[in-house]
Amino acid sequence: MFIRGYSTKISNLKGVGNSAKESYASLGVKTYGDLLLLTPRDREDRSKLVNLEELPKVFYETIQINTFVIAKSHSFFGAFSKNGRTLKITVESYYGNRRLELLCFGRNFLQKIIKTDKIYYLYASVSSHNGILQASSFELIEVKDINNPPYPFGQILPLYPLKGSLTQKLIKKNIIEVLSQSIKFEDELPKYIINELSLLSFDEAIRAFHFPKNKKELFEARKTLAFSELFYMQIIARKDLKTITTNEKIRSIPSTLELKLISNLPFKLTDDQLSALKEIRLDLDKSGAMSRMLQGDVGAGKTLVAWASALHEISKNHQVAFMAPTELLANQHAQNAAELLEPLGITIALLTGSVSKKQRKPLLEGLKSGQIQLLIGTHALFSNNVEFKNLKYIIIDEQHRFGVNQREKLLSKGKNPNILMMSATPIPRSLALTVFGDLNISTIKNLPSGRKPIITHLVSEKSRTRMYNAIGVEFNRGHQAYFVYPRIDDSGPQELRDVTNMFEFLKKQYPNIPSALLHSKIDDNEKIEILNKFKNNEISYLVSTSVIEVGIDVPNATCIIIEHADIFGLSALHQLRGRVGRSQLQSYSFLVFDNNISEIGKERLKVMRETNDGFIIAEKDLSLRGPGDILGIKQSGFIKLHFASLVNDLEMIKIARKYCDKILLNDSTFINVENRIIKRVLEEANPYETEEEEL
Ligand code: ADP
Ligand code: MG
Repeated sequence: MFIRGYSTKISNLKGVGNSAKESYASLGVKTYGDLLLLTPRDREDRSKLVNLEELPKVFYETIQINTFVIAKSHSFFGAFSKNGRTLKITVESYYGNRRLELLCFGRNFLQKIIKTDKIYYLYASVSSHNGILQASSFELIEVKDINNPPYPFGQILPLYPLKGSLTQKLIKKNIIEVLSQSIKFEDELPKYIINELSLLSFDEAIRAFHFPKNKKELFEARKTLAFSELFYMQIIARKDLKTITTNEKIRSIPSTLELKLISNLPFKLTDDQLSALKEIRLDLDKSGAMSRMLQGDVGAGKTLVAWASALHEISKNHQVAFMAPTELLANQHAQNAAELLEPLGITIALLTGSVSKKQRKPLLEGLKSGQIQLLIGTHALFSNNVEFKNLKYIIIDEQHRFGVNQREKLLSKGKNPNILMMSATPIPRSLALTVFGDLNISTIKNLPSGRKPIITHLVSEKSRTRMYNAIGVEFNRGHQAYFVYPRIDDSGPQELRDVTNMFEFLKKQYPNIPSALLHSKIDDNEKIEILNKFKNNEISYLVSTSVIEVGIDVPNATCIIIEHADIFGLSALHQLRGRVGRSQLQSYSFLVFDNNISEIGKERLKVMRETNDGFIIAEKDLSLRGPGDILGIKQSGFIKLHFASLVNDLEMIKIARKYCDKILLNDSTFINVENRIIKRVLEEANPYETEEEEL
């Protein structure tokens, strides 16, 4: 049996009634397997002797000791109170003659239990008062045979996260029960990997992870479990992606179409854009299929690189599909493509959920016949009835918004198609490496020249009026703004500003300035119309929820006001802020925070004020929230890691990647005997949820 496949319900355990069951559930623990995967939040090291003789003569902190003592005498101290005086037990080191006073506040009953001249195991946190050693927080256990000291001496004790009615004692007892009932757990990695990396068996590893004999064993256990986690993360994320297999040396020549597109632009592509384009073009011309990530900060100009590379494929008579996460964005891209690519004679079509049946028919025919060269759309692109003649290149915008399954469905529409995934939420390097590896990431690091860094103001209630005035000045200059609020209206429990009410308020604040409301309940076609008007500067400001978060590109907008900014995550804030600063105009973001802002909220806003660099923000996000919560990771089929750390285990990620590369290259369906275990783990104990959010 695999650890994760151990599906017996925890209610079968002794001491787990309804209340413990609920408390466990809030930790995500429902089965025996879940319980075994519960990671201690800390550990108490009782493995090594720390006796009284080791303590310095004078010290000012408290020091944890883990030793054996002989009880010497009982006495009482303090004034008589209702409960009498407090017991003091004086003990002497078993190894010498240093003495320690144990102050038994509220534990006078120990007088009867702790007997003088007997030996005890003592775990205590000791302080020094004028040279006298004292402890009030301690644990004493009688020692019958000093050569065979009582539990838990010599152990490293796990301290689990607690919720509700759970106690350390209960969790420990439950885990011990599960482990003692279990037959040997099966290894979840191929034998040769376990051998080559000197990993433990999974049975040893899971037992030692909870109750290690010593630090070394704990280290080995964690290494084994963490490696497996990182290995499967990569297998799952990459098994549908083809990697380029050949080391062909080729010289790739840009097509006439690409060159035309570039020379028609009113600006020059940046060096980063050009080198990304070159990397992509080289991959496209090799015989294997490309799977490449194009990352670049918000506003860095990824879309143009995508269009140019699409033209490279179209020149070879291949079809290209471009997928965006929302109707609004797909629409914007289609308009953009129409302006830039149609003059070059390219046939483009847009397919989203709101394209009617009637319009759909000729579109589907055009795809099948190959007449349509570039199809832009939402996830409607992989509906069942969509068939291509020769789909060879798939571009996914804002890839972190899509799940692995969705990507897989689109890939199945072509024969071994190339894939380019674009992300404006730079994923932390460690995570990018797990999926793409060093060689398959193209990065646009620098923004187009002439861009001024966005100036970010943190705004408290007091400075609200000043903020409105500053934005008024921008309107007078003909510039535009986004006002963002977290809610659509004021229904619901929280006291948060909402777009509906603020829309009315702002109309009074800025009379005669045209504005519009934008949120998810507005009909898609209307949304598109509003956005078009905004693009044409017929509307000066949008009052919006975070629906404008991704991809929207209106260079004349110079202000974004985000209210209750402290409740947004870092990557969402960065994305939202990236709606401005898209031209040579000076842009501003105003992050308005609540009076009762949380500590983590403060931390996030500080990061936002200090940097505009999405890569730094992504790393911060990872350390503030942990990988499980980062926008997009869950949707991409990654979930919280139990054992591995994306921050600290970079080396392990690389090693796992090497093995994955080899396996996916030579045995991608895991049919070789030595790799068959992978197939079984994926089927029986898949470490990652495959549920994905519907878009
Ligand atoms: P993102 O990387 O966020 O998807 P876009 O592709 O939407 O960015 O580009 C942002 C804006 O920058 C667009 O208006 C685009 O036309 C413009 N742009 C792209 N490349 C350049 C460049 N080299 N010089 C000037 N402006 C550019
Ligand atoms: Mg974009």
